[in-house]
Amino acid sequence: MNILRTLGVTLALSLAFTAATTRAADVPAHFDPQGKPPSTFTLEIRDRLKAELPFSDKRDFDEAKKGFIAEPPYKQIMADAGNVAWDMGSYQWLLSGQDFASIHPSLQRQAVLNMAYGLYEVVPGRVYQVRGYDLANISFIKGDTGWIVFDPLTAAETARAALKFINEKLGERPVVGVVYSHSHGDHFGGVRGVVDEADVVSGKVMVIAPEGFMDAAISENVFAGTAMNRRLQWQYAVLLQRNPFGHVDQSIGKNVAAGNSGLIPPNRIIGKNIEEITLDGVKMVFQDVSDTEAPVEMNTYFPQFKALWASELVTNTIHNIYTLRGAAVRNALNWSKEINETLYKFGEAEVMFASHSWPRWGNERIKEVLRVQRDAYANLNNQTLHYVNQGVTINEIHNVYQVPKSLQQSWAARSYHGDVQNNVRGVVNRFIGHFDGNPVNLIPLSPQDSAPLYVEMMGGSDRIIAKGKELAAQGKYLQATEILNKLVFAEPRNMPARQLLADVYEQLGYQAESTSVRNTFLQGAFELRNGMPGGVPPRSTGPDVVRAMSTEQWLDFLGISMDPKKAEGMRHTVNLVTPDNGEKYAIELENATLTNIKGFLAPKPDLTITVNRSDLNRVMMGVASFDQLAQEGKASLDGDRTIIGKLRDLMVTFTPDFEILPGTAPTQRQVPPGRSFALPASGLIQTD
Ligand SMILES: [Zn+2]
Repeated sequence: MNILRTLGVTLALSLAFTAATTRAADVPAHFDPQGKPPSTFTLEIRDRLKAELPFSDKRDFDEAKKGFIAEPPYKQIMADAGNVAWDMGSYQWLLSGQDFASIHPSLQRQAVLNMAYGLYEVVPGRVYQVRGYDLANISFIKGDTGWIVFDPLTAAETARAALKFINEKLGERPVVGVVYSHSHGDHFGGVRGVVDEADVVSGKVMVIAPEGFMDAAISENVFAGTAMNRRLQWQYAVLLQRNPFGHVDQSIGKNVAAGNSGLIPPNRIIGKNIEEITLDGVKMVFQDVSDTEAPVEMNTYFPQFKALWASELVTNTIHNIYTLRGAAVRNALNWSKEINETLYKFGEAEVMFASHSWPRWGNERIKEVLRVQRDAYANLNNQTLHYVNQGVTINEIHNVYQVPKSLQQSWAARSYHGDVQNNVRGVVNRFIGHFDGNPVNLIPLSPQDSAPLYVEMMGGSDRIIAKGKELAAQGKYLQATEILNKLVFAEPRNMPARQLLADVYEQLGYQAESTSVRNTFLQGAFELRNGMPGGVPPRSTGPDVVRAMSTEQWLDFLGISMDPKKAEGMRHTVNLVTPDNGEKYAIELENATLTNIKGFLAPKPDLTITVNRSDLNRVMMGVASFDQLAQEGKASLDGDRTIIGKLRDLMVTFTPDFEILPGTAPTQRQVPPGRSFALPASGLIQTD
């Protein structure tokens, strides 16, 4: 609600409700006046699943409640900027005890489990978690004198609130250490809420991270960051109402907190496959599990407590091999192998807890979950390639692949974050790419060019709509999307076509078990009906991110930001020297392409820029120009200074507001002129 209000989205979101007054009778109605209830086909699927899935296995509910200490007296956490950073109150209707026909029954179960909110004890007297304060959990290990914090959430505000809450309940203790399990923003972004950077620099607080952490935290998201940001709006449905017909969950938590994200560089790096540290009396054995959920990641075993911290390697869902926001396809086979190594190395564990979801207790239970997920990931890899080697293509594999029956009956092997069908397509893409071997797909028409031909051959809009209605009335939703999508691309302003396609998308959303798929269909329906929500909040690229980015990454990014059409015929050579870190770069613009090479200088440059990297940060943030730095005596510009202006005029500023479905932008989109070497304002830190 608050996010939408901030965004100025003027929808008929009339059904306000508060946590305090939510009763079964108050369960919100559809937030969109054009929205539809689930169809009889959707209800039939729901009833079948309720009979087929192992709902009698309620161990997750016991585990999610175990160790509960206290819930805070508030449901909202405010951001320093004044907006609501976090709002558990917006999901209270999930606790009404009611069955929601517009939510896949397995997803509703997960969404209720993720309502855990407050302080929980994991190992008596030693290990605690605050859950429901952000997408991830924040974990606290009690040392001899203070807390060791595992994964300080996305935002300083939520992390700070969690630390305050545990200190209130269990006694004030200083934070003596922080562990970043991996390079995703929901695991480090809130660090400034629990420690002061000065204490990290002085060594008073140890910040531990896996080798390659700083590079991975930034580099995974720089080059396609704006596209990922726009697509994240769909995958996480951040702009959709929290409602049984809208956003219900994000599978590994409710959603992402909207606050201040930062990054304090670690001062202790874990570089070995197995490495041990004792900090404040707590012995921690780190296990490298990189190239799985994140490029760099590590588990931690606490032999004193027989407690295994499974980072995000093992949570209570099958994860993204291919994440719909867009990212390089992950390594499902290695993911399985790392879980297997965890099983064989730390199989004695009596409790397993993680950066998302709830813990598992008892050695047999832990081994059961590890085995189930080990096999689920290996099966995604192996079964997919088994069929690929028999000619099944990326366009078919999702209709061929089947999760083994025994895994279908295990809650720990269900896909709420990842989606089975898109994960197996991801595996195909990882190994043999997007091409299916059919020459027709070597040079496909763009959807806008293909659609009018189809519409003409199908006999025009009226016939397609009639057939679309007929298919929808039979519950043949995928067939209906096939033809209605062509019509919408051919006639973006054809509202009856858009409404019908939206209705069909909505049913597919209701039927989805994966939040990523549900949100994508429901966001699609929303934008077809109402157009794109305006005023996406700018996520600033703060100084922490800029500082963490290498000069080479920034120069590579300028090569992406440059308008290649404007650069035709231009030729310049620039040397960049940054004395404070001893780096130098030869930069060339030629053939409408901007390249750079680290460690070299061009022999006859048109311009040489000498500036400390610490000052260059201001140019990268867009708060100073090279000329300004030169005037301040912080940069020397030797040669043809006009080149800077010429290069700057080539730059385009990317914003995450492009159309995904045609005709949904309120007005013709203008690509804003850049005239800056700044990094994009859209967030460069991404979550899972
Ligand atoms: Zn995460």
